[in-house]
Amino acid sequence: MAEKIKVDKIFLASPHMSDEGYEKEYVEEAFKTNWIAPLGENVDNFEVELAQKVGSKHATALSSGTAAIHLALKAVGVEEGDIVFCPTLTFSATANPIMYQHATPVFIDSDSKTWNMDPIALEEAFQKYPDVKAVLVVHLYGLSADMDAIMEICNRYNVPVIEDAAESLGTFYKGQHTGTFGDYGIFSFNGNKIITTSGGGMLVSDDEEGISKARFWSTQSREKERHYEHKEIGFNYRMSNVAAGIGRGQLKVLDDRVAKKTYIYDFYKKELSDLEGIEFMPSNVWDQPNYWLSVITLNGKVRPLDVMEALEAENIESRPVWKPMHLQPFFNEYNYVGGNVSEELFENGICLPSDTKMTDVELRRVCMVIKSLWK
Ligand SMILES: *Cc1c(COP(=O)(O)O)cnc(C)c1O
Repeated sequence: MAEKIKVDKIFLASPHMSDEGYEKEYVEEAFKTNWIAPLGENVDNFEVELAQKVGSKHATALSSGTAAIHLALKAVGVEEGDIVFCPTLTFSATANPIMYQHATPVFIDSDSKTWNMDPIALEEAFQKYPDVKAVLVVHLYGLSADMDAIMEICNRYNVPVIEDAAESLGTFYKGQHTGTFGDYGIFSFNGNKIITTSGGGMLVSDDEEGISKARFWSTQSREKERHYEHKEIGFNYRMSNVAAGIGRGQLKVLDDRVAKKTYIYDFYKKELSDLEGIEFMPSNVWDQPNYWLSVITLNGKVRPLDVMEALEAENIESRPVWKPMHLQPFFNEYNYVGGNVSEELFENGICLPSDTKMTDVELRRVCMVIKSLWK
């Protein structure tokens, strides 16, 4: 039997520590001072440094992006029975915290121009559900939603906005960082995100009181008493000092990661644009994406599954576009406003490997496998 030559696996997106070893230095500092847990200097500094980087006044470091969404919903007053508008095309982590609060999601379709929340469907949703309590906006794959249009509508109805910027650290809309338009913004440092703390999240806002309230909830809502006094429900959602150390190091190379992600996107575009039926994710004049993932749609003879299977056979990871929430068995009883933009993106989309550790040789390997399907 002929043995297949083993080649290194190419990942969709994997952790990429700095060449300089910044992360290790900060983590070592935590060891030296025995501030392994719970809190300490890295947590405080990571909050300040991230807030500065995105241009927000305040931030609190949490155990995950999901936890940050949960506390943001609490901070804007979402309670049992409240309606929350949420994009249908997203990761389930956007929608789950709505359920944690026993609130009710209404899912909104995507705009084909941005792949994110469609302002026209949003306006329609406001007319159908005028007592909505909050709007969650997502910046998918590092593309920004059309924030001017969305904020105009939400301000007109006077409803708070939470931005799920888990995938868009490093993405700017008209020169302003995503996650800083609404009342609250959240970021994720999960292992596959543009920078990672091995797991973690951040809640940002200009509202100092809201952020300190979230910090209080994230540490079990312990009152300032000698004994353990609790007047409200609490959560164990705080980021550890070790994780924050990794985050501080990673933040130093965020710009390098965005540059490499952009390079990867441009590489694919140059190599693959001419293939019949292929389209790249939208680009808008207002948008300065972080290109977290390079995503294409296929509308011709070659289907996404063909590409994913061909890549898999060569030990290369790829993935379909998010399956819309209104099509998920868990969420399909909830209402939906819009057409079939998100459904078509799910049917036709593929996320190409966008790992920042990829070499040109590996990028060419990915392109060769894809192009072979058009021969
Ligand atoms: C990753 C992600 C989250 C959740 O972040 P975690 O840190 O993994 O909890 C939420 N929303 C979107 C769009 C994400 O991609």
